[in-house]
Amino acid sequence: MPTARKVIIIGSGPAGLTAALYTARANLNPLIIEGVEAGGQLMLTTMVENYPGYRDGIMGPDLMAGMRSQAEKFGGDMVQGNVTAVDLCARPIIVRTSEAEYATRSLIIATGASARLLGLPSERQLMGHGVSTCATCDGYFFRGQEIAVVGGGDSAMEEAVFLTRFATKVTGVRRRDSLRASKIMQDKARANEKIAWMLDSEVKDIHANGTGEVTAMVVHNHKTNEQTTIPVAGVFVAIGHTPNTALFRGQLEMDAGGYIITHDGTKTSVEGVFACGDVQDHIYRQAVTAAGSGCMAALDAERYLERIPEHLQTI
Ligand code: NDP
Repeated sequence: MPTARKVIIIGSGPAGLTAALYTARANLNPLIIEGVEAGGQLMLTTMVENYPGYRDGIMGPDLMAGMRSQAEKFGGDMVQGNVTAVDLCARPIIVRTSEAEYATRSLIIATGASARLLGLPSERQLMGHGVSTCATCDGYFFRGQEIAVVGGGDSAMEEAVFLTRFATKVTGVRRRDSLRASKIMQDKARANEKIAWMLDSEVKDIHANGTGEVTAMVVHNHKTNEQTTIPVAGVFVAIGHTPNTALFRGQLEMDAGGYIITHDGTKTSVEGVFACGDVQDHIYRQAVTAAGSGCMAALDAERYLERIPEHLQTI
């Protein structure tokens, strides 16, 4: 059995790296297992204008690089790789990657959530250049332009309505013949004159100009079999999120959507295991709220470690 660390953090988005910074500065020498998508969702964005402290904005990857080096500066140990298994009942807790096995007295889970995507090659290519999964983050860039929102749930309604603050027109693209959002959200979206819905329709492709900025989307109506190219400057994909919690299924309490349930701050259903960021938050999903909860998880882990009786601290 490897020597137990005091803290292991799984995930390296704003939540994981803030937890790393705080636990490092508390002299806990955290080990951060970065995950395959190191840096998290902000690595898929371009300009971030709503992270406090950056008056002129900062590129998502630059923000994450700054957080990473700040955590390293204070003693965070980063390892690349993906966690393949955990045993949260064992004491110390066991964390395995494909290369190594680690033991730890406390664990901070910051594995985030992944926005569901349509799966189009152009969608990936143009992510951050007109394609977005976050209206709150990117809506402001589309002032005075025509844009689209894909989806039919509450997120799509909320994003469509929010985006009418900036866009001159929002085209909602919905694959079925009716919306599926709650009635109140549908009513709000339908009452908004700037929003037009294309039902029974799917986005088949997204076009860009020579500088790689979105110019249009190709929409296929599967009832009429018609294909239309609609000029838009942005496509917001709002088809839900999947929390990255498969690893912890059966070991931690989760809600129906698979998000980890936390209580009293960032405590999970297992003592010594804390969760922060989007993996336990399907409501706010912002870099700054994730970072805030990462700080909370670090403080919760620190307090938990202080309470472990001395004779158990060497296990
Ligand atoms: P949902 O899972 O509720 O909805 C996802 C939508 O995307 C569905 O309409 C689904 O279509 C569609 N979709 C999925 N995959 C594709 C695809 N490949 N192509 C086209 N369309 C696709 O996710 P939400 O993010 O909307 O909501 C998640 C949870 O958060 C819900 O419980 C919701 O109520 C809640 N929420 C609440 C809000 C509020 O109250 N203010 C705001 C936002 C979310 P289909 O129906 O055909 O499967």
